[in-house]
Amino acid sequence: MATFQIITFGCQMNVNDSDWLGQVLLAHGHQKAALSEAQCIFLNTCSVREKPEQKVRSSIQQLLSERKNNPPDFVAVLGCVAQQLGEDFFALSPHLRLVAGPDALPRIPTLVDELLAEPRLKISLLDFTHSYEEREEGLALPVGPAAYVNIMQGCDNFCTYCIVPFTRGRQKSRAFSAIVAECRRKIALGASEITLLGQNVNAYGCDKHAQAARAKGEVFPSFAELLREIAQLPGLKRLRYTSPHPKDMREEDLMAFGSLSTLCPQLHLPLQSGSSRVLARMGRGYNRQEYSELVSRLRQIRPDLALTTDLIVGFPGETEEDLAETLSLMEECQFLSSFSFCYSDRPGTRATNFFDKIPKELQHARLLRVQTLQDELQKHLLKQRVGTSTLVLLESQSRRWTRPGYAWQGRDPYGTLVHVAFDQEAPRTGELVLAQITEAGSHCLFARRETANDRNDV
Ligand code: SF4
Repeated sequence: MATFQIITFGCQMNVNDSDWLGQVLLAHGHQKAALSEAQCIFLNTCSVREKPEQKVRSSIQQLLSERKNNPPDFVAVLGCVAQQLGEDFFALSPHLRLVAGPDALPRIPTLVDELLAEPRLKISLLDFTHSYEEREEGLALPVGPAAYVNIMQGCDNFCTYCIVPFTRGRQKSRAFSAIVAECRRKIALGASEITLLGQNVNAYGCDKHAQAARAKGEVFPSFAELLREIAQLPGLKRLRYTSPHPKDMREEDLMAFGSLSTLCPQLHLPLQSGSSRVLARMGRGYNRQEYSELVSRLRQIRPDLALTTDLIVGFPGETEEDLAETLSLMEECQFLSSFSFCYSDRPGTRATNFFDKIPKELQHARLLRVQTLQDELQKHLLKQRVGTSTLVLLESQSRRWTRPGYAWQGRDPYGTLVHVAFDQEAPRTGELVLAQITEAGSHCLFARRETANDRNDV
């Protein structure tokens, strides 16, 4: 048996994958240890942001230099950067002995013993699978109140800037029965909120793998049907999903916000640009007007829907007018928050060949304008909520509270972080409490526990 540590880069899908890996390694009898001591070190990597390769390389170099007197038995690079660079990583150090892409994750736990037994063994696993490969169950540890469940892998969209279809492969929807079983298991282990995860969740069941399975009689519901089934699982209080693609939002997906009581009024709906010209060059499959109409329809169905988004600034050929269109659509949609980045080339994607790249300084100046507007929108939207009440699912003790008293933090139905003050100290993880909002921070809310007597509105 060995000791291990996992370092995770990137998105919630990677965090979820690392959690799974950790639980399965524990189930195999291995033990978690500090980075300075662990025998097996896994880096679960992401290639979506800028310079991912350098970040992974420099993390490995720093780690090995800190461990030069007690090197680990092996270092493994997993995930998207592993898929992208493959065996090139082996040249970095003799301690780097496993390179595995995202589709190989289910096979990792069984390789640990082999790598420990044979110190010169190097393994690379870079093939894509043709269907969603189920993973073994990890140790049945209690899970936090908010849990995540994968419903698919990969993406078929090939947006011109995005590396995901090259590193995570084509879309593969997970079997309906396996999704429901994992949701039930996580609810039984303590989750009362579930977020369904995937690169393009509302295209669930629309890939070749799902179509072939359907032809053989396997049940593969639509995304809206999947939501309906999960929304009614006993013990589930809240359901969310991320990320949908605007071009794949069907009327039944929109209607779910009006009909499913557990589906939270929050949607992360990636926009990327407010300019139809830029959206066409990005290959996004919708234009400004279609996105705007989609938001109007969503707010007709659920007027209090909180929208968040992704934005790419400085895409090749982006003009001042294009940027102005992004800024105006941000205002129109009243995004509560956004992830915004400067465009950068990703190897193998079509946009790397676009000749009209925007200089870095201009990209950064534009990004600052986008982020300044976003901060204003968020402050304004949060301020409007002071004096109202909300339901907060408490996840942990608050780290931000500076006032006297005891505070816990959690998310409200809109996905906003809320710090709630209590008169008495007590363990509260997993409690769903009514709280009155007393103050708005820049990115979060402060509240006090509300009793039934002073209830205002939720
Ligand atoms: S939808 Fe586009 S941006 Fe999103 S993962 Fe697929 S290719 Fe990438």
